[in-house]
Amino acid sequence: MICIFCEIAAGRATADVVLRNEWVTAFHDIHPTAPTHILVIPNTHISSLDELTDPDLAAQLLLACRQVAQAAGLSERGYRVLTNVGRGGGQHIFHLHFHVIGGRRLAWPPG
Ligand code: AMP
Ligand code: ZN
Repeated sequence: MICIFCEIAAGRATADVVLRNEWVTAFHDIHPTAPTHILVIPNTHISSLDELTDPDLAAQLLLACRQVAQAAGLSERGYRVLTNVGRGGGQHIFHLHFHVIGGRRLAWPPG
């Protein structure tokens, strides 16, 4: 079965890409939940955080979250980085992705 995020990482499916390097791709979420809502994904297929074992890739993902948040001007007001794990954790696309969300006041705890 085709994975849409693998297709985006490979450049075969369109997305509003804001960062692409050897390790990761970041692009705007198609259904944003805040003024800024960017997804950061590994270029290789990993189904969720539960399957992530490579510490170098883990670092690249986290640093990319920071980089796109800073580039979007979120540092001053604050922002949130999260990943949903499994159906019970609210995950719908089973290719690891970190949500970088900001640009509005964010409530806590999430639902
Ligand atoms: P999750 O529920 O954590 O798996 O989040 C999946 C996210 O991917 C949702 O916020 C969707 O709006 C987003 N999404 C799904 N398909 C695409 C796509 N083709 N391009 C950009 N974002 C997408
Ligand atoms: Zn994939």
